This record gives sequence, C-alpha cells and structure tokens, in this order.
Amino acid sequence: MSRRIEIVEVGPRDGLQNEKTLFEIDQKLEMIARLEAAGARRMEVVSFVNPKRVPQMAGAEEIMAALPHTAGRSRIGLVLNMRGWDRCVAARCDEANVVVCATDAFGIRNQGASSAEQVAAMADIVGVRKPGDPPISVTVSVAFGCPFEGEVPEARVVEIVKAAADLKVAEIALADTIGVADPWLVRRRVEAARQVMGDVPLRLHFHDTRNTGLANAFAGVEAGVDVLDASVGGLGGCPFAPNATGNIGTEDLVYMLERAGFETTYDLGQLIEIGNWASGLLGKRTASSLGRAGGFPSEARVVA
Ligand code: ZN
Repeated sequence: MSRRIEIVEVGPRDGLQNEKTLFEIDQKLEMIARLEAAGARRMEVVSFVNPKRVPQMAGAEEIMAALPHTAGRSRIGLVLNMRGWDRCVAARCDEANVVVCATDAFGIRNQGASSAEQVAAMADIVGVRKPGDPPISVTVSVAFGCPFEGEVPEARVVEIVKAAADLKVAEIALADTIGVADPWLVRRRVEAARQVMGDVPLRLHFHDTRNTGLANAFAGVEAGVDVLDASVGGLGGCPFAPNATGNIGTEDLVYMLERAGFETTYDLGQLIEIGNWASGLLGKRTASSLGRAGGFPSEARVVA
C-alpha cells in the first residue's frame, strides 16, 4: 500500500489573509465548497483575529454558521489568544489552530504578545478546553527564521514544541511563516522536535517566498512527516516580502506526491481550476506551476 500524505488546505485563511482584494463571504463559501469537492478533508477556513486589524478575515462566525457539520470534513479556525479561542468554540469549529510565535519581535508585532506570553496563553487555552470543544493544534510560527530577529535558535523552537507536547495537544506544526527554510534545516528541525514530542503528530507549513517551498516539503516527507499545509493556487503573500509568492500550492504538492506514488485525497484537475479561478478573482496570475503548465500525463493528451 502506498503511503498517504494528508494535505491541510489553508487557502481560505492563509491564502487570502494578505490579499488586498477582499473576498465576499459568498465567494469564500464557494471556495471552501469547491475545495471540499476537490478532496480537502481538513481546511483552515477562518481566523478569529480582530477584523479591524485583518479585514480579509471578517465574517468568521458567518462562514462557520453557513457550513453544515459533515462527517469526514474538518473546518479549522486560527486562534491567537483566549478571545479567539472563545470565538472558535462559540462558532463550533471542528479544530482550533493556536499560533505561538517563536520570537518576541514577531510575536509583539503580529499578535501583541511576547513569545513567552503566547506560550502561557496556549497553556491557558488548553487548560479551559472542555470535552466536546474543538481539538487543539499548535503551530509554532517563524520556526525557521524571523523577519526581525533573523535566525531562530533551534533550542527555542524545541522549547515551545515541548511545552505544547507536555499539554498533550492534538498536533504540533512547525511553520516557515516567511519562507526562509532550506530542506536540510527542515530535516534538522523535524528531528529535533521529534525528540520532545512523544507521539503527538507533526505537521509542516511552508511558504514558497524564496522558491524552496516544495524542496522543504520533500525534506519533510523524507523525514517521515505525513501532514503538510498547502494553499490552492499558491495563494498567500508574505507581508515582509511584498512581491513574493505565497504558501506552497496545493496542486503543486499533490502533483509532486502523486507522481511519486503517494496518495492524497485530492483531484488535481479540480484543484487547478480552483486555483486559477481564485487567482483570477484576485486579479493575478496563479502562483502555482501546475496552474500554468497542467498535469502530466494529461487526460487531454490521451488519444483514444
Ligand atoms: Zn503561513
């Protein structure tokens, strides 16, 4: 049996978050529905940030209310603090993704709290979680490099991972928020994190800001990681690199993995259509390579 890699679609959240063109709630719902039809089983759909700070993330409650709970479909809400957690529970998300920044400078700028304060907030959130509340994943952001502090020490990342693992969270992710990792660094961080994680599953989140995204994903899979984030159309910018591309494209990742014999749950043709459609709504050309080149072998070329 071939190995299955789980791809968490983050387009409706991370993909859109830094885009200036605002999606209407109906457009986001259409994007979510099309992605689920294309095979997305877990998807980050909303962020419980203050919409005054991130206008694109307005309407989180309305989006969740419009999504009927469906077996086998998990809709994830991003949570930055206790207020976000309360909203996430009230909105009945299937999962909460709690973000903890690895550096103070990024944390204060992004979330108004130091790294240590965010670790404490994570513990508080896990502490108030009741049975039936959404399971909690923890994502360590800027785990491979920070736009303000530069290199991020492995020891600090491991410390946060250990704190999350000690709280017995459902999953821990390492995020290359600004797209500065290289594949060898990915392997070293994965191996270091594993030392303190016990049996908590590990997920990886890469941005393709400097064209290392897919190589980093490859390194993660080679290191044994089975869960990766990706964004359809390669949507998602980097607020600290204005002209950079976004997350690794879901269709590019699906292509690479399935070409090599791994299983994903996605339909490549549908993903390409969704990526091109969403990029078009944003007034841009798709950032994904598959969106431009198409798959291979392509069905269109099959001669009957
Ligand atoms: Zn991201």
